[in-house]
This record gives sequence, C-alpha cells and structure tokens, in this order.
Amino acid sequence: AAVLALGLTACSTDSPETGDAGNGGADVQEMTVGVAMPTETSERWIADGEAVESQLEAAGYDVDLQFAGDDISTQQQQIEQMITNGADILIVASIDGTALASQLEAASDRGIPVIAYDRLINGTEAVDFYVTFDNYEVGVQQAQSLLRGLGYLDESYQDTGLEDEKIIEVFAGSPDDNNTGFFYGGAMDTLEPFLEDGRLTIGSGQRTLDQVATLRWDQATAQRRMEDLLTSTYSGGSGQLDGVLSPYDGISRGIITALQNAGYGDSIESGLPVVSGQDSEIASVKMIADGVQFASIFKDTRKLATQAVEAASSYAEAQEPEANDTETYDNGVKVVPSYLLESDIVVADNIDSLLVETGYWTESEVASGL
Ligand code: BGC
Repeated sequence: AAVLALGLTACSTDSPETGDAGNGGADVQEMTVGVAMPTETSERWIADGEAVESQLEAAGYDVDLQFAGDDISTQQQQIEQMITNGADILIVASIDGTALASQLEAASDRGIPVIAYDRLINGTEAVDFYVTFDNYEVGVQQAQSLLRGLGYLDESYQDTGLEDEKIIEVFAGSPDDNNTGFFYGGAMDTLEPFLEDGRLTIGSGQRTLDQVATLRWDQATAQRRMEDLLTSTYSGGSGQLDGVLSPYDGISRGIITALQNAGYGDSIESGLPVVSGQDSEIASVKMIADGVQFASIFKDTRKLATQAVEAASSYAEAQEPEANDTETYDNGVKVVPSYLLESDIVVADNIDSLLVETGYWTESEVASGL
C-alpha cells in the first residue's frame, strides 16, 4: 500500500475539468489512467476500450487509450510512453502475456498500480489486480454449446442420452494468451467423457494445444488450418465432419468459410457442421440468427469495464480492490487477486433477451450483421 500511495503523488499536470466523482476525497481530477488494448481488428476490444474510457471519464479521470494492432513491440512502446507521460494507474489487456515484464516493472518502480484486463500478465510481480471472466467456465460453455448443437445436450445443457457417433475437430486460441489454456482446458474436460465413450471422435486426431492453437486468434490462420484438415482428413470420404469447437467468433468465421467453400452447405440445416464461438461479435450474431454459426459466448464488456474502473478507483483511494477469487490466477511469480465475471451461451433463440434487450446490439445490427 505504501508503494501504491507513492504513485498517487505522481499525478499528471492536465488541467482539472471535472468535479470530485465521490471518490472519498482522492484527487481523481488530476489523475491519468493509461489503458492499453491489444487490437482494433476484433470489435470486442474496441468496445472494451470505449467502455473503459467513457466510464473512467465519467468518474473524472483523464484517459490515455491506446490500441497496439496486435504487435507486441508496439504495445511495449505504448506502455513506456504512458509511464513517461505521467500515467497514475495502468489498465492492460496484453497481446503476449509474458512480454510486458520490463515495462510493468518500470511502472511498479514508480508506484503505478497495474490492473490486468481480461488477459493475465505472466512472469512478473508487477501486476496488482486482474479483472476478467471465469475463463475456465467460458471453455466449458463453448463445449456445452457444441454438444447442444450436436444433440447430446438439451436446452438446459443436460445429457439427452443420444448415442449417435459424431466427428469433430478442435481449435484453440493464441498460445501466448493466458486465457487460451483456460478456454481449452474447460472445453476439453467437458468433451472428454464423450470422447472416452466413443460418441465423439476427433477426426484428424489433433487435440494437443500445440496442434490446435491459432496464433493471434487470426481468422485467416484458422481458415487455412480448416482447409488443410478438410484435405488431409475429410476429402477421401472417410467420414463427415459434424462439429467444430471454436474458441472465438473470428476463428469460427474462418472455419465456416472453409467449410462452405468445400461444399458443406450454407447453413447448419443444409449440412454445415455445428460451430461454437466467443464474444458475440455482430457478424457472428447475425450468422447465429441465420442458422449458420450455432452459438457464441457473451461476455458483457461493459461489466468488465466497470470492474476495471472500480479497481482503478480503489487504487486512487490507496485501497486494495475487492477480489472474488484469490486462488486461480497464478502468473508464475504470484497468485494475482482477481475479480471474475460470468458469461452466457448465445444461441438463436436467446439473441433478443441476452443481446438486444440489454442494449448490447440493436435489432437492426443483428439483422444486418453490421
Ligand atoms: C479474450 C476473448 C477473445 C480473444 C481474442 C481472449 O483473451 O478473452 O474474449 O475472443 O482473446 O481476441
């Protein structure tokens, strides 16, 4: 706490504009929060950046928001610059969870609290708090949605007793993102009983994280791997592919494009395999509404932003933010106190209640996919 209090004296020199936002007397008006986001190519990070920025500004902070174009050295430089420019608190969604230690240690040396946002930062003491979703549970939900689409689970995610044997493939996220192992772990643990009793088979046999990871969560990389799998495993009529576990909507769209190009049909009804997803990106939500992608996971970025802002406000008052998990997220050097949020499975019939009625997407956005 002594170290954190130190950081509070290193305020930026920006002129105060807003009043005290009820922050227990902390001089929020003169504080700058540096917000480092990974990329603007995926809309969730744009939404996260905007939500964090607007909620911080509403609470009276100045905000230095940067996106790094998924380039590790750009993100390192942006964080260095934020420190140089006098950031008082940092909120960081990393690209590579192990690549920021020296920048964050420089922040820590100046008493700047560091909040890891959505993705844990590994291998350093210099991360004070972590706001995220229950990432293992997200993986469980991804597998549950696949199993539901294949008919093994009902709409309450209970076993239907279906005994048919089906063939799947497995995709995972970027190997340098700490979340990837949690999503993959939750999903594989959920699929395991079905793989063991033979109801499910991974057609290609590729199932280790090494074999199934997708560097930078890249859609084109996923499409190429799906094309390769179709050529190596499915072109000789050796069995029809029924489903694909996908950890992220961009990857799902790459997979679906490969499948459609290979003649699997335009929609699930006309033969397209069941594909899962994550983030409820608008293009994928439209595809779910149209029966093309089966499901996605909804992680409400507005709620995550609120948790990040609350954590920042605690530090502004020289207090520790409130954690609801102090066991799970070991970054290799320490267990980082965390606040975990819950996620939901989106399928065609709950798009309205989960996404439209909550104001996340409008009806016309869902209809147009834009
Ligand atoms: C996030 C996911 C996102 C993925 C790709 C992960 O760290 O938790 O929500 O789909 O990155 O951007």
